[in-house]
Amino acid sequence: AAALDPRTRRLTEERSVLGPAYRLFYRNPVHLVRGQGARLWDADGVEYLDVYNNVASVGHANPRVVDAMTRQASALNTHTRYLHENILNYAEDILSTMPPEIDRIMFQCTGSEANDLAVRVAQTYTGGEGVIVTAEAYHGNSALTSKLSPALGTAQELGLTMRTIPTPDTYRLVIDGKPADECTAQEFGAWMAGEVRKAVADMERHGIRFAALLADSIFSSDGVYPDPVGYLQPVIDTVHELGGVWIADEVQPGFTRTGDAFWGFERQGIVPDVVTSGKPMANGLPTSLMATRHEVLEPFAASIPYFNTFGGNPVCMAAAQETLNVMRDEDTMGNAKRVGAIFKQAVTDLMADHPCIGDVRGAGLYIGCEIVAPGTKDPDQPTALDILETLRDHHVLTSVCGRFGNILKLRPPLVFTEDDVDMFISAFATTLEELGC
Ligand code: PMP
Repeated sequence: AAALDPRTRRLTEERSVLGPAYRLFYRNPVHLVRGQGARLWDADGVEYLDVYNNVASVGHANPRVVDAMTRQASALNTHTRYLHENILNYAEDILSTMPPEIDRIMFQCTGSEANDLAVRVAQTYTGGEGVIVTAEAYHGNSALTSKLSPALGTAQELGLTMRTIPTPDTYRLVIDGKPADECTAQEFGAWMAGEVRKAVADMERHGIRFAALLADSIFSSDGVYPDPVGYLQPVIDTVHELGGVWIADEVQPGFTRTGDAFWGFERQGIVPDVVTSGKPMANGLPTSLMATRHEVLEPFAASIPYFNTFGGNPVCMAAAQETLNVMRDEDTMGNAKRVGAIFKQAVTDLMADHPCIGDVRGAGLYIGCEIVAPGTKDPDQPTALDILETLRDHHVLTSVCGRFGNILKLRPPLVFTEDDVDMFISAFATTLEELGC
């Protein structure tokens, strides 16, 4: 801490009032005051490249979204016990992006709340309690969803009715003697479906009835596993055969992120029973959704009232609507596909000179880059963390994910440009040279 400038040190020390659960990024913390597109500026006017923030989906401080939310805030903000056009117009518009079966939607403020509600809806519909998640999943911070979030670590008590299936690790898994990355979607999906069967069998042995599989179709906190496209079909078929529902957690892959489709589940060619999302939805205002088929919602909604003081309010709905409008007008899906492909190729090209890069995978503007001990697939978290700190010194912000914390998570705002890619690659190449890896 001695090397920190006095203001950074003071702000860092003052954070003790927030308690130790809040974790700062970086040994030399960043104090941001302004943003635009994928660029950020700190209190000294230093410019940074944001390669991490999926909340500012249409760019930091997007003027159209700022204008829409301030106009509505100057007129009225209230809750859902009164009539208002904004929530109805947005509900119709966002449902039009989903499969026609999904015809009911409710709004919350966070992804945690959306998943919490989704699990309650699924449990009431199926009459079961058991929920399956992947081994490194993160689904939220509420009492219910934190117990469905093994990524929080061993100190977190996990739910007694929760079961995990392994991370669909296409880089390391070997299935029936065949490396996973050589498996077809059908073969890989059959393996995963088998894991679901085992988890449900274990629930049944303990007298727990299966309710839902809750999954993020890009498996982001597990380490980013988007391919092979189609592998989730055998898994959802098995979930349905066993009497459960599929809750698609679209907090990460939704809203055009993968470049191939508006939704991550759509890219995988499946129709989930329940959809949740949040982060990218309103460009920074706390807004989330839980959408489902009317018959799935009915048993819960007919018996239990739901009120969310801030969820679906006119200001958040105005911000969500304008975010969606910008996504369409600026074709963020096309941008994620085009710039994402250039980005992934450019990172892949660095593998030739930098043996610490073991694998580069991803879809659209969601890229995972494995940092390993050269010549092996052994995760190298210390080097990954050195890379993060060095990138930060070169004014590039990103983070890591996965069980071993060694996978760089490259997930910029959806308006990331080719210039932004060039800036990242130049800083990343310099970083790898400096670290000699
Ligand atoms: N689901 C996933 C897949 C997430 O990544 C997150 C947040 N990182 C959440 C749910 C929880 O969202 P929130 O922080 O808005 O509660």
